[in-house]
Amino acid sequence: MAGYTPMMEQYLSVKATAKDALLFFRLGDFYEMFFEDAITASRELEITLTGRGAGLEERVPMCGVPHHSAEGYIARLVEKGYKVAVCEQVEDPASTKGVVRREIVRIVTPGTVMDAKLVGDASNNFIVGAASRGGRIGIAACDLTTGELYLTSFALSPEAINNVLNVYRPSEAVGDEAAIAAIQETLRPAGRALTATVRDEAGTDKLAEQFPDEPWNAHEPVRQLAVSRLVSYLEETQKRSLAHLRSVKAYDTEAYMSLDAFTRRNLELTETIRDRSRKGSLLGLLDRTRTAMGARLLKRWIDQPLLSREEAERRLDAVEALNRDWIKRKELRDELGEVYDLERLAGRIAYGTANGRDLNALKSSLRRIPAIQELCESMGAAPLDSLARGLDACEDIASAIEAAIADDPPTTLKDGGLIRSGYDAKLDELREASQNGKQWIAELERREREATGIKSLKIGFNKVFGYYLEVTRANLASLPEGRYERKQTLANAERFVTPELKEKEALILEAEDRMFDLEYETFIALRDRIAEQMSRLQRLAESVAALDVLQSFAEASAERRYTRPGWTDGDGYDLIIEEGRHPVVESVNENGVFIANDTSLTSEGGPILLITGPNMAGKSTYMRQVAMICLMAQIGCFVPASRAVLPFVDRIFTRIGAADDLVGGQSTFMVEMKDIQIMTEQATSRSLIIIDELGRGTSTDEGMAIAQAVIEYVHHHIGCKALVSTHFHELAHLESSLSGLRNGCMAVRESADGVTFLRKLVPGAADSSYGIYCAQLAGLPETIVSRAYSLLNDRGDGAPALPLPERPAAPRTEAVQEAAAAYSEPSALPIVQLSLFAEEAPPAKPAKPAAADKVLDKLRKLDVMRMTPMQALEWLNDARNQL
Ligand code: ADP
Repeated sequence: MAGYTPMMEQYLSVKATAKDALLFFRLGDFYEMFFEDAITASRELEITLTGRGAGLEERVPMCGVPHHSAEGYIARLVEKGYKVAVCEQVEDPASTKGVVRREIVRIVTPGTVMDAKLVGDASNNFIVGAASRGGRIGIAACDLTTGELYLTSFALSPEAINNVLNVYRPSEAVGDEAAIAAIQETLRPAGRALTATVRDEAGTDKLAEQFPDEPWNAHEPVRQLAVSRLVSYLEETQKRSLAHLRSVKAYDTEAYMSLDAFTRRNLELTETIRDRSRKGSLLGLLDRTRTAMGARLLKRWIDQPLLSREEAERRLDAVEALNRDWIKRKELRDELGEVYDLERLAGRIAYGTANGRDLNALKSSLRRIPAIQELCESMGAAPLDSLARGLDACEDIASAIEAAIADDPPTTLKDGGLIRSGYDAKLDELREASQNGKQWIAELERREREATGIKSLKIGFNKVFGYYLEVTRANLASLPEGRYERKQTLANAERFVTPELKEKEALILEAEDRMFDLEYETFIALRDRIAEQMSRLQRLAESVAALDVLQSFAEASAERRYTRPGWTDGDGYDLIIEEGRHPVVESVNENGVFIANDTSLTSEGGPILLITGPNMAGKSTYMRQVAMICLMAQIGCFVPASRAVLPFVDRIFTRIGAADDLVGGQSTFMVEMKDIQIMTEQATSRSLIIIDELGRGTSTDEGMAIAQAVIEYVHHHIGCKALVSTHFHELAHLESSLSGLRNGCMAVRESADGVTFLRKLVPGAADSSYGIYCAQLAGLPETIVSRAYSLLNDRGDGAPALPLPERPAAPRTEAVQEAAAAYSEPSALPIVQLSLFAEEAPPAKPAKPAAADKVLDKLRKLDVMRMTPMQALEWLNDARNQL
């Protein structure tokens, strides 16, 4: 450091302790950054990079931000994934010689942001601690703003890490090198990243002190290490009490249904695929919560469907009671609407950032608890009863706040106005002294006006001069010479003081100073006392949040006519849904019409349903709706069906559509195969499998072969409930060879003026593959058509021929025709009209002699390559009618 100025030497030694954080170094009214930090910050914040002499020949790069607007800049850096160490002057510059002492007072990092504005009320901001050892990994996820800490451990695998991280979506991770590498590896394919810090220390001795009630010996080492690394990192960055981190919620990953990233994404559970918004997702649909903590808990419930039927039943019992009694539900919703974010309030209290308004918000929230309790108890449902019994209204805390804190306190803590009068005798005395002084001043003003005859004479106050008498220039002449002492000259007035006024001023200011100090001390003492009750407040917050989610389920269920699901017992795990609907598609359907469909996957009737049908027929909506209904039931919500009897599924696997993993650089087909591989490895007879468009993305032959092999594997080796859709109509023959497979198809009605999707699932297969048939219709020479069929049947590579159907004789199955006939008012449905030929529509009966020529003429002009199979059929139908 030779040659640097003393200030720069100090900077460098502080910077050495800031490690990988950008250092905001306080110099007077600015935070300055130097060297690399300055270059990075000026680029990221778009602020000017300058230089500063530092004692050496070359100036060092520097940039700075004013201290009063620093929070915004810090927030922007943190949002971009940087850490920011804030270094303050910790001595009064006026009373020090030489360089003022400076220290890092906090390090702001993406996972430890305490600013609610940055985090969002309805979202959590998690930081995870991780530890890996002997093939296992421990993950501790903490939201510092609410004091929640979840802990789990499992066998290390990318899927398992992904499933857990998907629940928390952490913005930061700290852990040993291997654990961090595993986490980063897991996130990379999805293009996600987090701020990571490697910490290898292995001490766990602080755990018992931080979490005295936790039986640490019962936790395996990776769990202990994960928490201890997290806590030591938090201490290091926060440099203050972690008093609100007192309880750990440890769980086994097996306690919840594990949902892989694709399933979450495909089912749009908490955000939409298109724009990642909450609106349009299941979460957005079910969110009728009235509190921020309820909104956050709802997301977690959706992310972690239950695997305990008893727990699901408990939730459903509560939802049923709340659903039934809409008057009480409304009252409860009104009460909950008055409850502030208890978790975050508690967090701020423990963290030492809560102000007077926060305490009052806590008080008024606590005051609502007895009414909430009473409402719950009156509903006659055991789970609500026990929830109500567990609600602790913390009357002592509410009363203490009520007694101490003024009705409308300021947001600041050091300017008085916080503490109610009558709370503290000393404070009242000081307050009276200051008020008397002020009264005396008002009296002086009145007296002086009278004595001088100057009506506009007034007494004012400012921080520089204190109290003064002010006389306008126009009136100066009437002021007796020497009456006051001149203090300050303004453009159109003079300001004066008198020894008497100054004496009184000293008394008032001293009283005020002491009063503000005492108010501050009183406030902090109260806040610290409340902080000691943190675990009670956290438990209360948790119960209120749960109640809020339950009423939210009940409200959404009532509004959307959902019904309570039942469960199938026994070995069959049958799945029966009557008039099921897709909750989200139903809610956004513009015409307001959604066609309900039944589902029956039973061990007798066939646990696998193979669905065929053209694009846009409604296949994937149908399959997703079955998955959604199962999932909703297992989070304890009613379901969109007139009746649902469901198996308690252990896992839902979905492979839906072309979820191109472009970021991860994997082909659609490769992604599909990986998903299928995971599914074959992990699905059990109690799983639900949804595969949409199985086998696309490779050549037809291979795709079909893979599809058939996968279906057979599911049928023979997994034996679970499965819904599979395919555009290989040829696979319908599997129904005859696999006893547990049934064909189904989405009914389509064809008529002279177009094709109508009836969105109704009917038994049987859709029309055979249209490809070659269309070519035939379009008038391709017979030689080509027969050659195509024979090629399709015999692929000529020695591989066994796929069992393919005969050339299709009739374009529609009977079942489809029947369904079409049964549907008399399709015009009410959202219809996709493919009325290519509408204008030329025919009915030429009896056929005129020239008709055949006309048809032939049109056939010659037909642009076959631009037609869908359906349009070709339609055309054929038209043509026949004209003959
Ligand atoms: P496919 O998977 O067969 O291509 P989709 O399931 O994507 O078809 O459905 C296409 C569109 O049809 C959806 O966007 C949806 O708006 C509508 N739809 C699907 N099912 C229904 C239904 N049961 N009732 C009303 N509209 C539906």
